[in-house]
Amino acid sequence: MAEVSTIYFVGAGPGDPELITVKGKKLLEEADVVVYAGSLVKEKILGYCRKGVEIHNSASMDLEEITGIMVKAAREGRRVVRLHTGDTAFYSALNEQASVLEREGMAYGVVPGVSSASASAASLGRELTMPEVSQTVIVTRIAGRTPVPEAEKLSSLASHGATMCIFLSVDKIERVVEELSVGYPPDTPAAVVYRASWEDERVLTGTLGDIAARVKEAGITRQAIIMVGRSLAGDGKKSKLYDKEFKHGYRK
Ligand code: SAH
Repeated sequence: MAEVSTIYFVGAGPGDPELITVKGKKLLEEADVVVYAGSLVKEKILGYCRKGVEIHNSASMDLEEITGIMVKAAREGRRVVRLHTGDTAFYSALNEQASVLEREGMAYGVVPGVSSASASAASLGRELTMPEVSQTVIVTRIAGRTPVPEAEKLSSLASHGATMCIFLSVDKIERVVEELSVGYPPDTPAAVVYRASWEDERVLTGTLGDIAARVKEAGITRQAIIMVGRSLAGDGKKSKLYDKEFKHGYRK
């Protein structure tokens, strides 16, 4: 009997097929069975797969069907890749799939990817943390069909004035702005990146006060990250890392 194989969850990156990790690409090239999150993973990335690979789009499947395919194939000794968009750490439904595998006694590995939050910051040409401006990034979303714990309401998080990356919420941009306005002044830099790293990427920049109108005008309702915070302006204090007066382990 063939040996049971290890199942790999792989972060595909934000869309550009060159933004998968070397490790993720290698696993895709070697895979016998690939189950990809078809609603978001850009299909071009499946071009890395061997000829004859068995490919499943999970968009219309439920949890049981997805894990059923993975478990069966791995028990047959076939190499299985479960491909998620961006990074596996954010909004990937990894935990619920992993617990099924654990219950079934199946081994799995996780290969992270470039999150669309990182890709969106890159498209803006910005880092999200700046000395004395903000040293904190909040990754969050507004409540939709998936509820958000009360303590994590945008209006509460807004009180910190930190940089925020808001997933899964661009269709509710007006509500997002309303809740953020509890903590951020209207002239706070804001941006929306639609399909970061895709050929049809769009970057909208503005302020908390005008970003909702810009989004409406552009007709963006999905596949976008909202970013807010003073770090996006890019001016402000320099980091200690490259400060002439600042000595550290690599520069005495
Ligand atoms: N695990 C993914 C997030 C999946 S949830 C990651 O780390 O990026 C899906 C949400 O991610 C979308 O609603 C959108 O907010 C964001 N998203 C995914 N791909 C994107 C892209 N290329 N550009 C901008 N936002 C993206």
